[in-house]
Parts: sequence; structure tokens; C-alpha cells
Amino acid sequence: MIKINEHYLKLRASYLFSDIGKRVAAFQSANPKMEIIKLGIGDVTRALPKVCIEAFHKAVNEMARDASFRGYGPEQGYGFLRRKIADNDFRSRDADIAPDEIFVSDGAKCDTGNIQEIFATDITIAIPDPVYPVYVDTNVMAGRTGSFKNGRYDRIVYLEGTWENGFIPRLPEQPVDLIYLCFPNNPTGATISKAQLQEWVNYARAHKALILYDAAYEAFVRDDKLPKSIFEVEGAREVAIEFRSFSKTAGFTGTRCAYTVVPKSCKAYAADGTALSVYDLWLRRHTTKFNGVSYPVQRAAEAVYSEKGKRQIRVLSNYYLKNAEMIRNQMGALGYDCIGGENSPYIWVNGKTDAWAFFDMLLTRAGVVCTPGAGFGRCGEGYIRISAFNSYKNVQKAMERITEALNSGE
Ligand code: PLP
Repeated sequence: MIKINEHYLKLRASYLFSDIGKRVAAFQSANPKMEIIKLGIGDVTRALPKVCIEAFHKAVNEMARDASFRGYGPEQGYGFLRRKIADNDFRSRDADIAPDEIFVSDGAKCDTGNIQEIFATDITIAIPDPVYPVYVDTNVMAGRTGSFKNGRYDRIVYLEGTWENGFIPRLPEQPVDLIYLCFPNNPTGATISKAQLQEWVNYARAHKALILYDAAYEAFVRDDKLPKSIFEVEGAREVAIEFRSFSKTAGFTGTRCAYTVVPKSCKAYAADGTALSVYDLWLRRHTTKFNGVSYPVQRAAEAVYSEKGKRQIRVLSNYYLKNAEMIRNQMGALGYDCIGGENSPYIWVNGKTDAWAFFDMLLTRAGVVCTPGAGFGRCGEGYIRISAFNSYKNVQKAMERITEALNSGE
């Protein structure tokens, strides 16, 4: 008899965005003429930068001729891309990362989801609340948690983000082995200082723990004092893995390219306490289960690092940051406390009421879709996330409608 992985039965029945989709679809069918503005799901809306398109076309043409055709490439990614990543994203900021410590992949979602399988199932994991749901669900699937009760899974140490701590969780009071951090944060838009990140690195070193640092939104950091990489922090090479993505940096959500940085000095431990190389484990996993990102996509990603490419991706992130500023200012003017929206494309708004009620109010009275914070964890209750990923015109229209709806409700 074929048996299932019973841990899957512990997963919450419905995924946040499908719940939202159902409510939006119901509203749209009852109001077919209403033009709904979506500031919910964090997907980019602007075209790929011109340099990427040109590199993409050129690489596709290479594939059309036997002489320049490429079959399977290196599983970890082509050297041309890994060298550019190491030089531009790390060495230029004094972060000591070598090209062969970079693993190119088809997404930070897959990497943040897959990485846990190289660690034991009986470790203690610490996950922020609110959080990008992939970290939790993939650990549930792997059997590292108990069942779901009162909005929480047993056996996860939740790192609570609150208004009081600025959604930068405090260090855990009990020892933990694997720590997920994400800055600039999804969903809250919070950013972490170098000194705060140093505390986490020091904790990991003291407890022989490992930090999984998701920096998918680093391209939105404008404040020079903020770290873009955990490897800008002293001592991180032994205790951290970093995830990056071209999705939000260069509009690759539908093109698919990302990378994970695993320093060769990063250690994890066998049951008898022997220190082992995390790099070797991930290399084994990656080369066994993954066959590389397509050649044209890697050429398109490489183009991001040309002088023109750097300018074009800056224009792209500036565009969304301008939207973010408008949302933050307007929600603030309407009397709502917000964080994020600076150095981040997300604005986290204290709705001063039930998160789903606030969501429904914005949908039905303004025709605007946001994301209820409760979908990201118990600490998200009472908050909503507004995403800056849309056209300036639509964001402007959304803010006008929200202003009108909220003012007329008073
Ligand atoms: N990490 C975070 C925090 C995200 O918000 C997202 C996407 O929304 C991802 C990773 C996924 O990135 P990718 O498109 O590279 O899979």
C-alpha cells in the first residue's frame, strides 16, 4: 500500500493567497464593472531591463547554431555569472565571498524551501512571526514540527515581531539550531542594522547554530549604513547561508534566476559532534537534484552587472520605491502607523482592527487588494501589507480611493 508523508496533513488547509483570490473573485463577480487594483501579492509589474532582453535574445540565437549551442551547463551555474555576482554583490562591499561559493538556481523560494533537507529533523528551528510562509511550511513537510494549534505549530520557536521591537525579533531565550532571518523583510518591510545583525551572528557562533539569511529584497536598500548581505558582518562566514534573487532586483519573477551563497567555512555537526562542511552537503544536494538554470536566463542575469544593467535595475527599483513612499505617506496622513516602504517595497500598516476585516473594507469600499497580516503569522494580526509593485498610476488611484473610502466612513 502506498502511504503518504503524513506531515503534509498538518499543513494549514488553505494558502494565504488562495484565500485572498477567492474573496477577490467573489467581489469581482458581484461587481463586474469595478476595476480592482491589486497591491497584494508581491509580484513585479514592469518589463525586464533592456540589457537583459538583449542578452537573452543574443543567447537564444547562440542556441540556434550547432557551433555555439550549449547543452547541460554546470549545475552550480556558469562561471561568467558566478564571478560577476561575487565581485559586484559581495567583494565590492568587503564581503569575502568567492565565485565557487555561489550556487545559481531557479528561485529563492526553492532554495529557502530545499535547504532544510540537509539538516537533521530533530533540530530546533527558530522562525520569525510574521514571516514569508515558505520557511514554516517546508519544515512542517519535513516533520520538524508538531501539529497546528492556536495559530502556531508545536516545536517551532517563534521569533516575535511587534510594533515595540520594530519587527526586529529579539534573540531567542532558549537555544536554537537553525534560524531564519529575512531583511529587508517580507512582509513587514523592516530593515536590520549591522550592529543588530552582528548580535545574531554572535548568537549563532556561541550556540553552534546556523542562520539562513534571505536577502531577496536587498536591491531596495538605499541607506548606505544598512547591510545588504549578512557577510558584511564579522564572523558570518562560519554560521550563515544567504539567499538572493533576481526576481525583485531585476524583474525576473517570470524568468527565474536566483542564487544561494554557502561559504566553504560554514559548519554543521554530525550526531557525534564532528564538524562538517555545509558547503559539501549543499553541493552534493544541488548537483544531485538540480541540473542548472537555462543558459539564456543566466546570460540575461549576467547583463544586470554591466554598467548599463546597473543603471537600468536602479531605475526599476527606484520606480517601486517611489510608489512605496506614496503609500507610506498617504496611509500615515490618514492616521495609520506604518513601517517599511523605505529601503523596501512593502508597507506594513497597523490597521487598528482585525486584519481580514481591514482587507475586506479596502476591497469592498475602495476596490483595492492588500494582504492581511494575519496570513503571515499570529503577530501579523491587526496589520496589513501593502505592496508597491504596480504602476505609479494605479498606486495613485488606489490611494485616492482609499482616502475617499476612509474619509467617508468617518
Ligand atoms: N524570499 C522572499 C522573502 C520572498 O518574498 C520571495 C518572493 O516573494 C522569495 C524569496 C522568492 O523568490 P524567487 O522568485 O527567487 O523564488
